[in-house]
Amino acid sequence: MASITRLLRVAAQGLLWHATITSASQPQPRADVSACKLAANSDVYLSAGFGYEFNCAPSTGTLRAFMLFIDFSDQQADETAQSLHDFFLPAAADWFATASYGALSLNVTADTSGGFHRMPDTAVSYGFARGLTFEAHQKYIQDALLAYGATIPPTDVLYVIPTANAADIAFSPTFNSNVTTHDGVFVAKKAVTIGVDAFMDWGYLTLNHETGHTMCMPDYYPLDGGPTGQYIGGWDLMGLISGPSPDFFAWDKWRLGWLKDEQVECVAAKGSTTHTLTPLEKAGGAKAVVVKHSSTNALVAEYRTANALDAASCATGVLLYVVSTTVATGEGPVRVLDVTPDSGGCADDELNDAPLSLKGTDTFTFADWGVTVTILEESADEAKIKVDVL
Ligand SMILES: [Zn+2]
Repeated sequence: MASITRLLRVAAQGLLWHATITSASQPQPRADVSACKLAANSDVYLSAGFGYEFNCAPSTGTLRAFMLFIDFSDQQADETAQSLHDFFLPAAADWFATASYGALSLNVTADTSGGFHRMPDTAVSYGFARGLTFEAHQKYIQDALLAYGATIPPTDVLYVIPTANAADIAFSPTFNSNVTTHDGVFVAKKAVTIGVDAFMDWGYLTLNHETGHTMCMPDYYPLDGGPTGQYIGGWDLMGLISGPSPDFFAWDKWRLGWLKDEQVECVAAKGSTTHTLTPLEKAGGAKAVVVKHSSTNALVAEYRTANALDAASCATGVLLYVVSTTVATGEGPVRVLDVTPDSGGCADDELNDAPLSLKGTDTFTFADWGVTVTILEESADEAKIKVDVL
């Protein structure tokens, strides 16, 4: 697969450490944390680095959203708009509040008073399927604004919610461009158009996944049609929405401003270091060790436990993954390292039991980069690890 070849090429080029010379008397490869803030690559769509500029919706403070409800002459609503609002909220807002440790408030204004607004065209005519063009998606959103008719207050993201009877609105893409009316009036930075897959398959977390895209988060499942868990198993909501451990990776929580710099420890040179991590799912403490490999690649260690958003985790411990800022959305910008290959996994995915654990595999070497991570202690409150970089 081309993307894997590309990653390996990047890895091969990446042996230039931003190194400080270490010796037995000066074993301090731990670096200033800014050294590990890999910059986004503006040529790579939704690059998983810092500072990606794409008119992204805010990921800290308040994200203002407006929700409106539509139906079609051929696929009419027989439920209430309020019932669909309640399908998503407050659960989706609570999810972001927990994942962000209170840094992000999803503030949704929903107009349920007018019920469903009838779209000018039939549901089938919108051609909603994978491969939906930008123009067709834009027309759908603009028709929804026309159907709604009223002025929308200043907002970051527009949510267009169809009746659950709209079988032809089959999936839930994000419109990653300025939203305007047919007359060209600015409405929002981005739009999320929910499809019936949310109601049938994925639940309210569909709104969180798509809102993640409005904040410029990439897809972590393969967009070329490979197995959904191919790159990260069920470890992050931007992969398999129904995965057992949907909390966001610490790498992204850091990028999004949900983790402070002092909660991340950076290793940017050869040597041996020890680190204590606290559970990703609980606020406070150190959440990630980032081992910088190059200006575009890093290995990250974080402690995942069966708490809060990850309550359904089927394996816990120190999760390892590699990040590449040169790999685009859907091509594997984050790849979980499986310390128990060929175990059969759990919860239907080989990668779901990937973490290091004293209960299982306690050390792992990522030979490509000469990085070994060993778990030394593991309790409900913290995990201690040793990182060795050759
Ligand atoms: Zn997505």
